[in-house]
Amino acid sequence: MRVVDIITKKRDGAELMAEEIDFFIDGFTRGEIPDYQASAWAMAVLLKGMTPRETADLTLSLARSGDQLDFSDIVPIVLDKHSTGGVGDKTTLVVTPIVSANGIAVGKMSGRGLGFTGGTLDKMESIPGFRVDLSMDEFCKQLREQGIVLTGQTADLAPADGKLYALRDVTGTVPSVPLIASSVMSKKIAGGATAVVLDVKVGLGAFMRTLEQAVELAELMVQIGSISDRKVVALISDMNQPLGDAVGNAIEVREAIETLQGGGPHDFREHCLVIASHMLLLGEKVESFGEAYTLSQKVIENGSAFSKFKDLVFAQGGDISYVEDPSKLHLAPERLDGDAPKAGYISQIDAGEVGLTAMELGAGRALKGGPVDHSVGIEILHNVGDRVDEGELLFTVYAKTASQAKAASERLLAAHGIREKPVDALPLFYKTIGSTDSNS
Ligand code: URA
Repeated sequence: MRVVDIITKKRDGAELMAEEIDFFIDGFTRGEIPDYQASAWAMAVLLKGMTPRETADLTLSLARSGDQLDFSDIVPIVLDKHSTGGVGDKTTLVVTPIVSANGIAVGKMSGRGLGFTGGTLDKMESIPGFRVDLSMDEFCKQLREQGIVLTGQTADLAPADGKLYALRDVTGTVPSVPLIASSVMSKKIAGGATAVVLDVKVGLGAFMRTLEQAVELAELMVQIGSISDRKVVALISDMNQPLGDAVGNAIEVREAIETLQGGGPHDFREHCLVIASHMLLLGEKVESFGEAYTLSQKVIENGSAFSKFKDLVFAQGGDISYVEDPSKLHLAPERLDGDAPKAGYISQIDAGEVGLTAMELGAGRALKGGPVDHSVGIEILHNVGDRVDEGELLFTVYAKTASQAKAASERLLAAHGIREKPVDALPLFYKTIGSTDSNS
């Protein structure tokens, strides 16, 4: 086989065979195929696309490029969830305890934030002592004993994806639906997942800007799941406005704890209940979405989900006094409120701008590997569709310095739109793809 033939075949729009994809990915991972050929191939894929079968083959090839984990001796169904990245998205902190409190073990390997999107590991590290570097033995032991784990990626999962992604990032080939779908799914499959709930975000604060693109990505990931014998359900959720009120790290942990205790913002609570219910359905705990939803609500009401979260923090070395008293989670000292400049209905709270503002404050990182400040953040007090009076509080900024607070506040005011006429509220979810329950 010759690399150039594989590139020209894709350039001319033909379907690659599994052996050709394997040959290509294998050679690229081992450094035998140079970056210029891999870049040309990625561009050909971006321009000509891939069939679901090719994308599934690419996914499996990427997944085979490193360690392949198998937890089937610990749990019968290895359940996972994945969000394509959003603003204020602290869902994992709430749904994993809900699912685990219902008797289904969840061991999750999460990532760090980049750009306007936050990362679960950064958020959890707001709790002093919380370790996100568990060894594989520690991971398995905790999964067995506690039924809940939330850590960073320990194994070398899908290294070919990491290498390819770095190249895509600098060659304009990130926004290819088959490349994104195979990238996401290869890491889930290598991580041993047999059932995955995908939360595909769409809107101003998401990778996918249009519903059409998000549905295309979600459908392809569900198809990859079925071709590779994994159960996958994808939910398309709104990311035009931030999820919940809090955006940052410590501030998001506070909100997740409030939600686990039965409070929290209505949109975030509902979002978590729906995602957790789909996980319970995939985990074969229940037969209907309605039953799963009732069980999810129940473990919040009876405190067992909150108790699971405490078990998780304790097991990973975190100081649980911060969970018992979230006001101990330190927030930055410079606080600045932003008020509505006029009365009316909120027509927009641009999630992308809110995410970038939080990043500028230090809550996120512009470059991979950079530090984050856990104490800074933003609290957004309204949702699109709300009626506000002139001078009513719209948001609060928590910054390190007064000048940073001022700059953030100006940007956040510009991110808000207010109109005279009533505006419809945004839906939480647009579509569910791949569910076996038509009532979900
Ligand atoms: N997230 C991934 O893991 N891969 C992509 O290609 C894009 C987003």
